Amino acid sequence: SKAQVFEKGKGTDVTFKDVAGLEGAKEEVEEIVDFLKNPKKYTELGAKIPKGALLVGPPGTGKTLLAKAVAGEAQVPFFSLSGSDFVEMFVGVGASRVRDLFKQAKEKSPAIIFIDEIDAIGRARGKSNSMGSNDERENTLNQLLTEMDGFGTNSGVIILAATNRADVLDKALMRAGRFDRQIYVDMPDLNERKEIFQVHLKPLKLDKEMDIDFLSKQTPGFSGADIANLCNEAALIAARKQKPFVEKQDFLDAVDRIIGGLEKKNKIIT
Ligand code: ATP
Repeated sequence: SKAQVFEKGKGTDVTFKDVAGLEGAKEEVEEIVDFLKNPKKYTELGAKIPKGALLVGPPGTGKTLLAKAVAGEAQVPFFSLSGSDFVEMFVGVGASRVRDLFKQAKEKSPAIIFIDEIDAIGRARGKSNSMGSNDERENTLNQLLTEMDGFGTNSGVIILAATNRADVLDKALMRAGRFDRQIYVDMPDLNERKEIFQVHLKPLKLDKEMDIDFLSKQTPGFSGADIANLCNEAALIAARKQKPFVEKQDFLDAVDRIIGGLEKKNKIIT
């Protein structure tokens, strides 16, 4: 439900093994894992540990997955909320949610806070294109900035935020001591699609080894989320046909179905 904006700081069992491709991004977040695990290594030398990093990239490329993997690898609790949950909220609720979330994370530190779709609250102030008042959104954004400034460096809480529209974000968010690092999470290329297939084929019952090269070549423009969806769709199609295994034809049927869906989606946008 809408009221359940954040998970209450449970750990995650996601690790870097679950995140296929994204080698550059993984390398960058490995440093964040180390900040969480070995803070003294940095603080004893007088270093300030960064408070936040922005994960930037198209939808479905694994930003949420990567943030969960950081928490999973560091074995720290994961607190999350989504910017879209704050749209049309009653006055004061957004800001108090943000305050609560930071309070809980500090109590459980070291911890990760993950803010998905930060652009929904983090658009440049005074430039919102939404109808009606955006005061509440601005209150929420201001509270977020206040919280980030309010806890000391080396508090043990690191905030990851995800967006596919870094260009619309309020510049104040990117200032030093806030989200001053940007990590790019791009669409997968052919080889990365192969790696993503390897992850998502694993749970399926296949008749023989699936030709991953072939599947990867059939899926240009697919994100990681599209590939995960494709694998599950293929299994659903096979099950519907009472098959004991998922076969190549089921994947081809699923590709058709998903490409059909993607085209429809694009038609609505343009
Ligand atoms: P959005 O911007 O739409 O929130 P996102 O970038 O946060 O998307 P995720 O929610 O992390 O994307 O991805 C959705 C699902 O797609 C994941 O839970 C996973 O199953 C699959 N997936 C996406 N990217 C990858 C990847 N690089 N490796 C393995 N699985 C992936």
